[in-house]
Amino acid sequence: RSKRRGRGQITVYSREIAQEMKQATQLEQALRNAIINDTVDVHFQPIVRLRDNRIVGFEALARWIDPDLGFVSPAVFVPLAEERGFIDTLSEMLLRKAAEATLAWPRDLFLSFNLSSVQLMDLRTSFNTLSILNSVGFDPRRLELEITETAVMSSADTARRIIKELKDAGIRISLDDFGTGQSSLGRLREFTFDKVKIDRAFVSAITTDRTSEHIIKAIVSMCEGLDLEVVAEGIETDAEARKLRELGCGMGQGYYFGKPVDSAATLRYLAENHHDFALVDRASA
Ligand code: C2E
Ligand code: MG
Ligand code: MG
Ligand code: MG
Repeated sequence: RSKRRGRGQITVYSREIAQEMKQATQLEQALRNAIINDTVDVHFQPIVRLRDNRIVGFEALARWIDPDLGFVSPAVFVPLAEERGFIDTLSEMLLRKAAEATLAWPRDLFLSFNLSSVQLMDLRTSFNTLSILNSVGFDPRRLELEITETAVMSSADTARRIIKELKDAGIRISLDDFGTGQSSLGRLREFTFDKVKIDRAFVSAITTDRTSEHIIKAIVSMCEGLDLEVVAEGIETDAEARKLRELGCGMGQGYYFGKPVDSAATLRYLAENHHDFALVDRASA
C-alpha cells in the first residue's frame, strides 16, 4: 500500500516514527532525571468497607509532574520505565516512599501497592521488596501487592515463585483490574490470591446495564466461595456504592470516597474520616 503512494509518503511515515521515538527518548531522560532527583511522588486513594464506609486501607499511585512536560500519567510513564528497563528502580523508590508514609497511619490500615508485570519476571523482586520493608520498619502483613492477570500469565513459573516468597513473608496479593484481561478462573486457585479488584469498567456500568450487574454478582459470589475478598474499583456515585453494597461486595474504592492525594492530604483525610486518628495526636506524640 505504501509503495503505491510513492516515496514521499514513506518519508512522512518514517519522519513521524522518528519524531515519536525522539519524544519517547526525551520522556525517558526526563523520567530518569526525576528518579535521580527524587521528584516522582506517590499519592494515596482510600479503600473502604462498603458495609459502613469505614477506611480499611489506601492504594499507592505514582505521580509525576515534570517542570517542562507537566503532568504525565502513570499509564504512560510506568510502561515506558518497563520498556526501557528501569521499572525496578522506579518501583523500589515508590515502595519506600509509600511504606514510610504509611507508618504515620493508624496501624489497622493496609497499604496496597501496584507491582509491574516486568517485576514478576524477575526473581530478585521478592528479596528486594522485603529488604525495603525491613529497612523502613514496615510490617509485611500490612502490605498488599496488586498484580494483573497478564502479569502472572507471561512467565507463570517465575511469577508463582515470587508470589509464594512474598506470601510466605505475610504479604497479601490482589488481582487488579479483574475482568479485563484474558481471565482464566483456574488462575484464581492456582495463584492463591487474597483479593480481587473488579475493574472500573463494570462498576461504571452497574446502574445502567443489567449485564454488568450480573457479572459483578457472579464475581462476588465466586469470591465468596473461594474465600477471596472483593474490591470494586472506580465508584463515583452514591447510587453505585449502594448497588454494590446490595450485591454483597465487601469493599470499594473511587472518587466518591476520595481521589488520590499526597501524603500530607492523606493525613488530613484520616483526621476527618478515621475514628481513631487525629492530627493533634501526632503533633504532640
Ligand atoms: P490501577 O492500579 O487500576 O489504579 C486505579 C486507577 O483508577 C488510578 O489511575 C486511579 O487514579 C483511577 N481511579 C480511581 N478511582 C477512580 C474513579 O472513581 N474514577 C476514575 N475515572 N478513575 C479512578 P492512575 O493513578 O492514573 O493510574 C493508572 C494505572 O497506572 C494504575 O491502574 C496502575 O496500573 C498504574 N500505576 C499507577 N501507579 C503505579 C505504580 O506505582 N506502580 C506500577 N507498577 N503501576 C502504577
Ligand atoms: Mg491498582
Ligand atoms: Mg485497577
Ligand atoms: Mg487500571
